[in-house]
Amino acid sequence: MNFKINEMRAYSKEEIIDIYNKPIMELIFEAANVHREFHDPSKIQVSTLISIKTGGCPEDCGYCPQAARYHTQIDKNDLLPYETVLNLAKRAKENGSSRVCMGAAWRNVKEGEDFESVLKMVSGISDLNMEVCCTLGMVTESQATRLAEAGLHYYNHNLDTSEEYYKEVISTRGYEDRLETLNNVRKSALKVCSGGIIGMGEKIEDRAGMLLSLSRLDPQPESVPINALVAVEGTPLEEQNIVPVWDVIRMIATTRIVMPKTTVRLSAGRTEMSTEGQALCFMAGASSIFAGEKLLTTPNPGEDKDAEMFSLLGLIPTEKKKDNTGKFKIRKSLVEAEESKKWSRPGHAIERNLAATEKAKDLRKSLKES
Ligand code: SF4
Repeated sequence: MNFKINEMRAYSKEEIIDIYNKPIMELIFEAANVHREFHDPSKIQVSTLISIKTGGCPEDCGYCPQAARYHTQIDKNDLLPYETVLNLAKRAKENGSSRVCMGAAWRNVKEGEDFESVLKMVSGISDLNMEVCCTLGMVTESQATRLAEAGLHYYNHNLDTSEEYYKEVISTRGYEDRLETLNNVRKSALKVCSGGIIGMGEKIEDRAGMLLSLSRLDPQPESVPINALVAVEGTPLEEQNIVPVWDVIRMIATTRIVMPKTTVRLSAGRTEMSTEGQALCFMAGASSIFAGEKLLTTPNPGEDKDAEMFSLLGLIPTEKKKDNTGKFKIRKSLVEAEESKKWSRPGHAIERNLAATEKAKDLRKSLKES
């Protein structure tokens, strides 16, 4: 089966499986062509993941050492102070990252002091002219909107695997809960970051099933992290084998073909990969990695090693692109609120004008604060 470059269409699960199973050289070649059509292949975005609250999570994700119910050797901590997080972000920027992703081991975002602190962190990091992403568990539409107003660009919430295999890995929340959070994020001004993990015992059909679910989101996610399981002692998946590098390459290439415009992030599992293996992932469409010696709680190659690899492969880390999507959307709502006042005709209830004025006032205030 051959697909024309630039072809944007919905693939069926069978077609995704066929793509995944193509002869590897053919697959890489096709994915590389799609990648070049939509992205600059010489650029790589470097992200830094900061665990702002580690461990003690009430969920039971079978791969995760942060779940309170598993006995793992991690250093737990409550929400880090604002200054600590800002300093970590500044250091990440000095070391070449243009993006920070803050992760908190929560089931869902709760209103209150901690959420207010996260909003302040988002705003502080956004002011450093870095792209900011958060992964804080399930989120409502109004919380997502507040995060956008604070300067957040992306919200991460992974589907992890296919809908069919999901229940083998997680029982404390359903696939539909994940989709609902993604829907809430999409309704706010935020961009969607959602991907998954391979190597959890799933079949190729499940890998394709996950890509099917992601690619059928409308619009498709702007960012898709592909993780290779890092099996951690004490978790239910501790016995899983290391994911073969060819599986990672196939998954990256298939993701690139199925979602041509998205940023495909080569995420966890890079410590097990050679430079050559990673080079094939970049060739096949990965355009972002996570830097730093740790990815939340699991090991990752250090910044020096990555700098060496970029220099060898001729890859150039990108600067943050100008992106005020959240603020732009709020501005658009402001215009709409004022329009609805302007077009009120005699006979319309005064309450409608008053409501429009109040809404415009609130929006102006949030714009000023953002
Ligand atoms: S993956 Fe997230 S939600 Fe699941 S146990 Fe870990 S911290 Fe909790």
